Amino acid sequence: MNYYAITLIIAICLLSPGCSRSPDLYAQYQLVPTVLHIEIARQAIKNINILLHAEGLPEYYLYDEEHNREGIALLWVGDKTISQTVADMMFVPRGCQCVIVQPRVLYSWVENYSTVGETNYADMDNLPHTLGYFLLHEYGHIHSGHPGRAISTLGDNTNRDETESKRLEQTADDFASNLVAKYQSKTGAFKTWMSAANIGLNISSLAFTLQGKRIIDNFGCSVLDAPCAFHDMGDTHYNLEYRILKAQCLISGGEACGMLSSYEQRRNSGGVFQKGALYRAE
Ligand SMILES: [Zn+2]
Repeated sequence: MNYYAITLIIAICLLSPGCSRSPDLYAQYQLVPTVLHIEIARQAIKNINILLHAEGLPEYYLYDEEHNREGIALLWVGDKTISQTVADMMFVPRGCQCVIVQPRVLYSWVENYSTVGETNYADMDNLPHTLGYFLLHEYGHIHSGHPGRAISTLGDNTNRDETESKRLEQTADDFASNLVAKYQSKTGAFKTWMSAANIGLNISSLAFTLQGKRIIDNFGCSVLDAPCAFHDMGDTHYNLEYRILKAQCLISGGEACGMLSSYEQRRNSGGVFQKGALYRAE
């Protein structure tokens, strides 16, 4: 190819809007964008970007194939090509500086917790902050260079095994919790304090709700400190109540850490009948 042909191709490319864009992430992952509850995403991004900006870190943006930017892309996707399970509710695809969220699954997941007490986790006062915390968790995976989403392997369904995947999940949780804790303690800087305090309050409320939900849904296992209430329901993540209690302790300290150690005692006890015939912890 001669010099003139190469120059012509470059000139055409520079004039074409498609040439300056990175590939369409929706097409790449075979996803369909949605506007369902999109205000929740906008509000969550606005809140957590205050903290990311204060840290000098790249910020989140709502992905739009017309407008690629620097930072972490949030892909807000519909349910046509992806399973409607909690495992697929929110994740970082391998090798992408992006997070995929399914609002329909997120919404029904939090509605599940809204039946326990007076907090409606699905409303605009709460869901952006719950989502904000989990987006910071996903950010922690990207920031730490973790290799994409956690894939389950065969394992005991009520286990306390330490796995590599659980360790990575804990690192991502700690990234989110430490960031919130740092700015919640800086009461002199109103904007960052407000953003962090809203997430901190939401996590405390969620910790309380998850405890209530365990007792209501799983009373028998709960009063017996049994594995069916306190152990992990898979090999990729610690159970959600345990995770949120750890987050609450890192963010708020004090009494929250007392709740965590009480939970850990019950979790590690193996249950009141551990030597009996009903079940064994190991
Ligand atoms: Zn994770």
